[in-house]
Amino acid sequence: MSDTAPGGAFAAFIAGLPKAELHVHHVGSASPRIVAELAARHPDSAVPHDPAALVDYFSFRDFAHFIQVYLSVVDLIRDAEDVRLLTFEVARDMARQNIRYAELTVTPYSSTRRGIPGEAFMEAIEDARKSAEAELGVTLRWCFDIPGEAGLAAAEETVRLALDLQPDGLVSFGLGGPEIGVPRPQFKPYFDRARAAGLHSVPHAGETTGPQTVWDAVRELGAERIGHGTSSAQDPRLLAYLAEHRIPLEVCPTSNVATRAVASLEEHPIREMAAAGVLVTVNSDDPPMFGTDLNTEYGVAARLLGLDAAGVAALAKNAVEASFMDAAGKARLAAEIDACTAARA
Ligand SMILES: [Zn+2]
Repeated sequence: MSDTAPGGAFAAFIAGLPKAELHVHHVGSASPRIVAELAARHPDSAVPHDPAALVDYFSFRDFAHFIQVYLSVVDLIRDAEDVRLLTFEVARDMARQNIRYAELTVTPYSSTRRGIPGEAFMEAIEDARKSAEAELGVTLRWCFDIPGEAGLAAAEETVRLALDLQPDGLVSFGLGGPEIGVPRPQFKPYFDRARAAGLHSVPHAGETTGPQTVWDAVRELGAERIGHGTSSAQDPRLLAYLAEHRIPLEVCPTSNVATRAVASLEEHPIREMAAAGVLVTVNSDDPPMFGTDLNTEYGVAARLLGLDAAGVAALAKNAVEASFMDAAGKARLAAEIDACTAARA
């Protein structure tokens, strides 16, 4: 592409394209400005209060360091108003990128263990969701995820919150945090309960460990989509399985480089995934922390996969297809993508 540079016609097409995002974290979407405001409200926190200093603070040495920084930002979400503000502001950033629909990964355990009552937490995110839909035209849905590093007590609390309080926007159940030393199969009973209640299964797997973790997520946790699945590319049988069973991958290229899961964008296995026929979706994960946004990730994917405008539109429609929207919602957003693409041609 000759015009992928910011400000180029191709970048403008990507920016204007209506999009769905399937792998993006609630707290991890807090921009430096929002984090600075929260840090100023909670001056005992170790997080810098100055947006310029936050840029350095968000520069990661490795995955363990990323988790450490991420948890220090989690520590800033201390009351229901923090939750409501964060959620609505995240939706505002999405609206600016023409993201029309997002399944936001929310970790309620991080907030309830800090003393925010579950009911107040749910009320805050639901209030923000309704405001985002009415005022910004952004539809939010929730994926409640288990913070893997917090173990089985966190799994129990997360499934309890999901099933007892079932907020209207809740569609899926996930598992995040470190993978090394946190095997997926131990979470099977919690996923079984969530799935029995009608929630979709979308664990992270194969981000920092090998393809066996992805197999475990599929076989033990009933994964319907895989968060990252980066190492799937090391196992052709696994790629064939994911393609055959239409289990999409939520690919987050810049995140994978920032956490050193992949050495460079050029070495990202997104090409192998797509070539194997896997339904590939592109996502931003924790965008401000990784200095990216969804439009940038589409630009990266377009470059790595050699896509033109029609190819980018097809990628955007992959996310619609892989989403947990109802059929009417999918048809509507796909039609918007088609209309936007036709207007360019
Ligand atoms: Zn993630």
